[in-house]
Amino acid sequence: MAEQPKRIAVLGSTGSIGTRALDVIESSQGRLEATILTAHSRLEELVRQAQRHRPRIVVATDPTAAEAFDWRRLPPDCELLTGPESLIAAASHPEVDVVLAGIVGSAGLASTWAALEHRKTVALANKETLVMAGQQVSALARQGGTLLPVDSEHSALFQASQAGRPAEIERLVLTASGGPFRHLNPAELQRVTVAEALSHPTWDMGPKITVDSATMMNKALEIVEARWLFDVPAERVAVVIHPQSIVHSMVEFIDGSVIAQLSPPDMRLPIQYALYYPERVAGVAKRLDWASALRLEFEPPNRERFPALALGEQCAAAGGTSGAVLNAANEAAVELFLAGDLHFTEIVPACRSVLAAHHYEPRPTLERLIELDGWARQEISRWMCA
Ligand code: NAD
Ligand code: MG
Repeated sequence: MAEQPKRIAVLGSTGSIGTRALDVIESSQGRLEATILTAHSRLEELVRQAQRHRPRIVVATDPTAAEAFDWRRLPPDCELLTGPESLIAAASHPEVDVVLAGIVGSAGLASTWAALEHRKTVALANKETLVMAGQQVSALARQGGTLLPVDSEHSALFQASQAGRPAEIERLVLTASGGPFRHLNPAELQRVTVAEALSHPTWDMGPKITVDSATMMNKALEIVEARWLFDVPAERVAVVIHPQSIVHSMVEFIDGSVIAQLSPPDMRLPIQYALYYPERVAGVAKRLDWASALRLEFEPPNRERFPALALGEQCAAAGGTSGAVLNAANEAAVELFLAGDLHFTEIVPACRSVLAAHHYEPRPTLERLIELDGWARQEISRWMCA
């Protein structure tokens, strides 16, 4: 009898991660199936994806956009759900095996939470969920769901960590490309434009994470993500600049052995690894060409030029409410930068002052974290006016 396909809910299917997940599903020769697709605004693209992948359900999360859209080209056997609450139905649907969490920002928290509550396997790209509520989400995952990293560094750490036991891990070494502004001096950083910040040297990603890579806030968020995914104390997560983005991260064991995962920068590989886990398949991702010369460089990050790293370390060590505040402040600051209302060099100082102004609590509830997410966004606007 033919094997049943794994049924995937692709949350954020029109995004950079979502479209690459659909590439992986399309090339699976029927082993993976896109059962549910969700998008916020690019609804033309969502309908095109529905025509091609024939999901059972599509979700349009922005109710205003969904209302205004002409849905006549949606295949007749495809059910349409609208509004943000439909994401919960999608993530917990009984006919879904794996939830690919590819929504950007804290908007991805509720659906990831619902999927884990329903003991689904979650292939997690949405790192903001773990930055905001890492303690709560990892505790929930331990109760029966499965959390698999899609972020390339964390997929690398997950793969490399299988070379030893958890207690034998000395250090997790996150690699960072350093982004487009690695060599700029402070005066040059002052003049950075939105277009320059949106042009990444090695990765092609959505706008928010591309700006985060330029400020290195992305690596700060990834320190917090690693702390919770692997249950490792903050001081044992290190960052090294590796401009080629070939070594995706490394695990250093207590005997001094360092195990790395290498591949060209192509998100389809970590997505595929999570969707098929524990199996490896040939797949569609690019491969390294060992017939050509390959140079790999590593250097310590310049912490003065990239003060975001210290904020990540601080939040990974403090836990509690700090991650939710840093994450929301950063989301709001990046939105303002993209709208032309905040300078590139103001993003991190704005986040730092909101983090410093917040009243830290060590054991917040999920409701409190969501409240603080709103508070931190308002504080960023107040910082602008101050
Ligand atoms: P993107 O902007 O390209 O796509 C975001 C997707 O989320 C879109 O489908 C959009 O419709 C949906 N979305 C946006 N706002 C929403 C809302 N309020 N409610 C519901 N859906 C909403 O982003 P991306 O680059 O694909 O990143 C997605 C996530 O994956 C982020 O958390 C990012 O940090 C992480 N990630 C991305 C990459 C990458 O290569 N792009 C790599 C590692 C991790
Ligand atoms: Mg990453």
